[in-house]
Amino acid sequence: MDFLPIFQNVKGRLCLVVGGGSVGMRKAGVLLEAGAKVRVVAPDIDEALKAQANVEVVLARFDESHLEGVALVIAATDDCGVNKQVSVLAQARNIPVNVVDDPGLCSFIMPAILDRSPLMVAFSSGGASPVLTRMMRGKLETVIPQNYSRLAAFAERFRELVKTKVTNPAKRRIFWENALDGVVAEKVLTGDENSAEAMLQQMLENEDNIVRGEVYLVGAGPGDPDLLTFRALRLMQKADVVVYDNLVSKPIVDMARRDAERIFVGKKRADHTLRQEEINELLVRLAKQGKRVLRLKGGDPFIFGRGGEEIETLAAEGIPFQVVPGITAASGVASYAGIPLTHRDHAQACVFVTGHLKDGTMNLDWELLARPRQTVVVYMGLHGLDTLCAKLVEHGMPDTTPIAIVQQGTTPNQRVITGTLATLPGIAEREQPQAPTLIIIGGVVTLREKLAWFHPQG
Ligand code: SAH
Repeated sequence: MDFLPIFQNVKGRLCLVVGGGSVGMRKAGVLLEAGAKVRVVAPDIDEALKAQANVEVVLARFDESHLEGVALVIAATDDCGVNKQVSVLAQARNIPVNVVDDPGLCSFIMPAILDRSPLMVAFSSGGASPVLTRMMRGKLETVIPQNYSRLAAFAERFRELVKTKVTNPAKRRIFWENALDGVVAEKVLTGDENSAEAMLQQMLENEDNIVRGEVYLVGAGPGDPDLLTFRALRLMQKADVVVYDNLVSKPIVDMARRDAERIFVGKKRADHTLRQEEINELLVRLAKQGKRVLRLKGGDPFIFGRGGEEIETLAAEGIPFQVVPGITAASGVASYAGIPLTHRDHAQACVFVTGHLKDGTMNLDWELLARPRQTVVVYMGLHGLDTLCAKLVEHGMPDTTPIAIVQQGTTPNQRVITGTLATLPGIAEREQPQAPTLIIIGGVVTLREKLAWFHPQG
């Protein structure tokens, strides 16, 4: 984070705009909207601005005396020398200063805004790309309709009442989310505030019905946040607690609600921060406190994810839950590496297995895996790679069979190492791929050369 986003109260305070052209006008306009008094300094100033209430016009070149009594400064001249002078003098006095289009001279920057007062959304790229910022705002314009102003005002009107009636903060948040996410909101948005109010009162009388903890068991996909489902994202925005392990990439965990509690439950090979039973119990305990618990899992929760065990415990305790599928590593990683898992000429079937070593051995159905015309995808297989290749050859798979290891697929650190059953163990020893890694075995691996250009990161 390069800047701290804050909203400043400038009501009734004197703010200075240096520059009387169209940009200066616009900045003065925003300051006036926020309730500021504005002093505009320039040798030449637009007539329309002069006529505005709360505007003090100074027809002069900028000098230090214009900073007197000023709470905030915006420099919007086309003279770099003047802009710099404003910035240096303001900063020497600790007055926040913004120089339009020159982030290096700014102590604060102005975001693009989506104004649904009292709801306000601010966007910034820290000066990196104002165009991108405006595009993002354009997208959100459609998601947050104009009448959200009305909804925000409605919520403000009942805020104190709800606070006195629902005293537990966690319960109160759930109360508001139910209200602002359901029928009450719909009524407000269509302008029927009387019905909305009646419904809200009814909800307040029946608090017990509102508050119930639940668990969302959500597949987060293999790493790239773009591969989340809409439902995953929506629930991530809703949950009070996020329970995640190290298969879930940081950018994804960062997408959960800002103030949600985050609990890391680890799980690297042989270094289990919490045992599975402890995770199951943790989910139950959190839900019983009335929280909405998001259990984020890498890939798909039901593919080598022990999701089944987690919901068994929840079901036994009568805790409501929902399971949201995710893109499993095999599918996400193969596609980003340019390896189709099935192909008319190479593979009519695809098998997913776990190559987890138990007591130094891998207990797999080797006959089945060594069959021709199929693709074998091995999860958690890197440590057993030597055994895996040797066993497949022993059971009749040609040692020239192509095989790939994909490191941290779909992330910026994706790396693909290819070879054959005979050569790959040696190559991997040299290349030292980093976890998590997925192993793909079969003729389809050779297609990568033709297809990988789709994904430059591969
Ligand atoms: N439920 C998960 C799998 C959990 S098992 C899923 O559906 O994908 C953990 C194994 O998944 C890792 O050891 C690795 O083999 C594989 N894996 C998960 N994410 C991966 C990624 N981004 N790149 C490569 N392999 C990955």
